[in-house]
Amino acid sequence: MYFAAEVEQEKCKGCKLCIFSCPEPNAIIFKPAKKKVSIDPKRCKACGLCLEACKFLAVTITQVK
Ligand code: SF4
Ligand code: SF4
Repeated sequence: MYFAAEVEQEKCKGCKLCIFSCPEPNAIIFKPAKKKVSIDPKRCKACGLCLEACKFLAVTITQVK
């Protein structure tokens, strides 16, 4: 059990601010087809920087099994 950031897809505007804030390579991935991002829970360290960066309150830190 660990914590990781998660993006609520309905709230994400695809602005990529979270990607620029994230210190972990490839933890946040932009999906061009959807124009939204998603977070790889295996790469995320739950530091919370993307949560602070997102102006649309799309990021939450959640518990992963
Ligand atoms: S900062 Fe927020 S709205 Fe922008 S791409 Fe990241 S999750 Fe989506
Ligand atoms: S919580 Fe930290 S490590 Fe995880 S995606 Fe956000 S900025 Fe990257």
